Amino acid sequence: MEIKVLEKDGQNLRLLIRGVGIPYVNALRRMIISEVPCMAIDEVVMLENSSVIQDETIAHRLGLIPLRTDLDSYNLPEECECKSEFGCNLCRVTLTMDVEAKEGTRPVYSSELASENKEIIPVSDKIPIAKLAKQQRLKLEAYARLGKGKNHAKWQPVSMCSHKYYPKIEIAPRRCDACGKCVEICPRKVLARTDNKIEVRDLMACTLCQDCAESCPKDPKAIEVGWEDKAFIFSLESTGALPPERILTEAVKMLDKQLKEFESGVKVKKSEEA
Ligand code: SF4
Ligand code: SF4
Ligand SMILES: [Zn+2]
Repeated sequence: MEIKVLEKDGQNLRLLIRGVGIPYVNALRRMIISEVPCMAIDEVVMLENSSVIQDETIAHRLGLIPLRTDLDSYNLPEECECKSEFGCNLCRVTLTMDVEAKEGTRPVYSSELASENKEIIPVSDKIPIAKLAKQQRLKLEAYARLGKGKNHAKWQPVSMCSHKYYPKIEIAPRRCDACGKCVEICPRKVLARTDNKIEVRDLMACTLCQDCAESCPKDPKAIEVGWEDKAFIFSLESTGALPPERILTEAVKMLDKQLKEFESGVKVKKSEEA
């Protein structure tokens, strides 16, 4: 397998992966979406809510706020030694909020959630939770836990994770008269005409839509769009809960673990049959 980093920042990771089949890349994507854990608010004790929004709507909104996650310090509740339904310091983080609109109507933002662990806080301060009219009050205690995306989307560490084939565009110079039809029709501005020649300007942006080939008046076509065998562009965007490279390495570890479990399951089955 060959991996090239095409783009990387605090939130995004884009890789070119060569030498693996689609089942592997898809398994990796599914691991990221459904198995890599992150923190989210899972339970809310409403102490006072005089706003016009129902308790359960506020609880739902709180659950969807991405929280910075520390995977090394916390356990999944089902794997924690406490075995308590309330959790312990190793599997639960308490966040509190007490906001009153004393002066007049005001919004309530995620920055107003106070966490007992300064590392486990909302990824953004500016997520609106509710709006309070004068003298309304919101007082609550919220409990965040690690969880997995397969149980609820609030525990997905990514807002996007996808893969696509690595495009391959071939232009036959003898047949192409540089009429420019393919350049004009391309919605992603992949192609450009320079010095009476058509060239590929931004291959990565190609979506394989085939519009360029269909617009070519030549017969046979002077442009052909396909994809490389066993080469993929793999992109992921973190919600901010975890760094994107950590999400990927966790997914690889989990896939490896599940394959080992599968392998030992097959061995047990075989020895039972023998
Ligand atoms: S296949 Fe679509 S996106 Fe790709 S170059 Fe052709 S028109 Fe553009
Ligand atoms: S539409 Fe066909 S002939 Fe015209 S520039 Fe594109 S590839 Fe060449
Ligand atoms: Zn615990």
